[in-house]
Amino acid sequence: MDTKVKKAFGDPERDRSLMEEAGKLIKSGELVGIPTETVYGLAGDALNPESSAKIYAAKGRPSDNPLIVHIAEKSALKKITASVPEKAEILIDAFWPGPLTLVFRRSGAVPKETTGGLDTVAVRMPVNDIAREFILASGGYIAAPSANSSGRPSCTTAEHVLEDMRGKIPLIIDGGEVGIGLESTIVDMSGDIPCLLRPGIISIDMLREKIGEVDIDPSIEGVMDENARPKAPGMKYKHYAPRGELYIVKGDPEQVISEINKRCASDGEKGLRTGVLSSEETKDRYRADIVESVGSRKDPPSIAKNLFSVLRDMDRKDADLIYSEEFDVPGAGMAIMNRLVRAAGHKIIEV
Ligand code: AMP
Ligand code: MG
Repeated sequence: MDTKVKKAFGDPERDRSLMEEAGKLIKSGELVGIPTETVYGLAGDALNPESSAKIYAAKGRPSDNPLIVHIAEKSALKKITASVPEKAEILIDAFWPGPLTLVFRRSGAVPKETTGGLDTVAVRMPVNDIAREFILASGGYIAAPSANSSGRPSCTTAEHVLEDMRGKIPLIIDGGEVGIGLESTIVDMSGDIPCLLRPGIISIDMLREKIGEVDIDPSIEGVMDENARPKAPGMKYKHYAPRGELYIVKGDPEQVISEINKRCASDGEKGLRTGVLSSEETKDRYRADIVESVGSRKDPPSIAKNLFSVLRDMDRKDADLIYSEEFDVPGAGMAIMNRLVRAAGHKIIEV
């Protein structure tokens, strides 16, 4: 299959014919790569079980890992949910449209193929204009996981989507680089106490400020218990990983720099190609084959935005071993470290 990449502008007039083309593809059961404010999505008709099956196949994703349903209008919630609790209404008023996914008990309209067999459904309303135009042109209910091949870093540009999906889908809508760069915050609203399943740019403090008590799923970093079973099924799978072997090095900043330089020197002697994920402030301190700044510690959103793209760069530049600083920055730190620790397969070196 030939994969076309076409530019969209976020202007309904200019995008009309592209959205018509995309909408037709979705209604005929095909998949389209789309920009959102978080990361690029691999979109299919959420109410068509065959589209969901195609999404799992194109990503190489295990089919018990549920998909998020994207809507463009709040009124679309009614058809796919069994009930919307009062605290969910508060979060919707505060954060939709935006990077917040809420999990509800589902109605019979959502096929089990879309929800990985669960009797709940995860729903998000993106704020990105192109995503909203696309959802409306495509029937209003779009299943859209991140557009990367399963296990790889998420896509923050249309080029990344093409890297992973070339030949597998007919169309990628290019909306330029995404604004946020990390996937949405996910909160399960289907139980008695709301529960954070995946951290994102909307932080736990922002949620608690609106609705009070919010639990944190044990599978999220720092509170992992050996016997805990993650409620967000995706969390048990390998995630976000570059091809090179990634280690996080944490501790006193000066010691981190000297430990990473020491390891790079010794890896280099063995003929291995080394890469470092640094901050803007420390990038000149490293001696490795590849040094990439993820962003400035004074600007946490820049780190969120660049993380996946820098991990993909390490693949393009053939790094065998990659060492990363810890990015436990205020605000976005929990979400950034959640992705980085998974990308590293939990390999952390403490100095
Ligand atoms: P992605 O599409 O790659 O952003 O990942 C979607 C993630 O959303 C899944 O891996 C789950 O962790 C979560 N998710 C989707 N639907 C549900 C659901 N019904 N219940 C709990 N978590 C869900
Ligand atoms: Mg994903």
